[in-house]
Amino acid sequence: MEKFKVNKDACIGCGACMALCPEVFDIDEEGLATVIKDDNLTSEEVENATDAMEGCPTAAISKEEDNA
Ligand code: SF4
Repeated sequence: MEKFKVNKDACIGCGACMALCPEVFDIDEEGLATVIKDDNLTSEEVENATDAMEGCPTAAISKEEDNA
């Protein structure tokens, strides 16, 4: 199962990831992206979150394979 992570040191809070995939990404009280869902992602959520990862201007998003 895939899950996504945001490196807050790299994130500039542009909001693009949340626009592409609001099911997985939100902007926290500090104005930086945060992952709000990292369990049981649907294939559509994985697809949209992958688009967000690829579109992030600072490459702050990464994807992990979690085979547990
Ligand atoms: S797209 Fe990247 S830089 Fe923009 S808010 Fe999301 S993680 Fe941060």
